[in-house]
Amino acid sequence: MIYLDNNATTPIDPRVREAMLPFLGENFGNPSSPHAAGRTARVAMEKARAQVAAMFGASADSVVFTGGGTESICTAIRGALTAQPGKRHIVTSSIEHSATKNLCEQLAREGCEVTWLRVGTGGRPDLAEYAAALREDTALVSVIWANNETGVLFPVEEMAGLADERRIVFHVDAVQAAGKIPVDLARVPAHLLSLSAHKFHGPKGAGALLVRPGLGLPPLLRGGGQESGRRAGTENVPGIVGLGAAAELACAALPLEMPRVAALRDAFETGVRARFPGARFHGDPDHRLPNTTNFALPGCEAQGLLAGLDRLGVACSVGSACTSGEVDASHVLRAMGVGDDEARSSLRFSFSRMNAAGEVPAALAALEQAAARL
Ligand SMILES: *Cc1c(COP(=O)(O)O)cnc(C)c1O
Repeated sequence: MIYLDNNATTPIDPRVREAMLPFLGENFGNPSSPHAAGRTARVAMEKARAQVAAMFGASADSVVFTGGGTESICTAIRGALTAQPGKRHIVTSSIEHSATKNLCEQLAREGCEVTWLRVGTGGRPDLAEYAAALREDTALVSVIWANNETGVLFPVEEMAGLADERRIVFHVDAVQAAGKIPVDLARVPAHLLSLSAHKFHGPKGAGALLVRPGLGLPPLLRGGGQESGRRAGTENVPGIVGLGAAAELACAALPLEMPRVAALRDAFETGVRARFPGARFHGDPDHRLPNTTNFALPGCEAQGLLAGLDRLGVACSVGSACTSGEVDASHVLRAMGVGDDEARSSLRFSFSRMNAAGEVPAALAALEQAAARL
């Protein structure tokens, strides 16, 4: 299989699995237990906390382990609202991941007012429009750093700065950015940051919310008081150990591997352009992740292409979701002004450091074959 769907999930790095295995075996202790077994688990967990903190330029005490990106996002947004009962306005964007989009739609039903920032054809918001959306009663801003469908990057440094100046809580969904570009909280004054291990070669169901020290954030889950009362429930120690190992490896690999990954993606795009002169690429090419490409092959229906590629052993993703037989065009592409037909013929290919150069020509040949059949 040629796996080019790394924005959906990534294969676990074998070194991450090795680090996790003892915690699925002999090291089974509960990190809250004071005996030797518990202490072994606690030490491993605190090592992982330091590894995650180092990846993001944060302090270890800002790391709250969670069950992944979705939980981190929900904890951040609901927590910021609970902490500021007088403020009921949320600023987000029209191209969020469904974790944020569906939660904000629910919060609107619960009485919050939501401003959905528009994006231009390149997929980026207008900073003046953003600044004008910030109000006295804004409880928080929650925006995605790198879009999962297009890879387009938001100007989060400026956006966080504008919120911070006005003392508005700023949460960034860094799930796709982490491990692909430098994500440094020393440069981006965000109060809250969400990340997820399985998007950078770690295990599924493990993630973290980084909380700026001093920010009071009520927990989403109450119970045993784990994570200093910030997230109750016995910790997923194997997952946390895997998250820590994945963070360290991703950090170390970034400077050398991401230029290589970008070269694979760029070679793939060059090959697509040569074979399909009518291909239409989505997203600002100067502000995007190094690993992602999203384009339409007009006249080729993406669901059919995906199925054809799957039969040829190539995994990718489509810019649309099939719900009960109806194909819904991607809300991200639509927000960028892409028409329904073009959105329904759009494919996403996302690379990782586990891809090899030889996979590019093989994937291009498969794409050509799948498209010819349509
Ligand atoms: C995958 C993803 C999430 C959700 O993370 P999970 O760990 O799968 O819950 C949130 N935001 C973005 C941008 C993602 O790509």
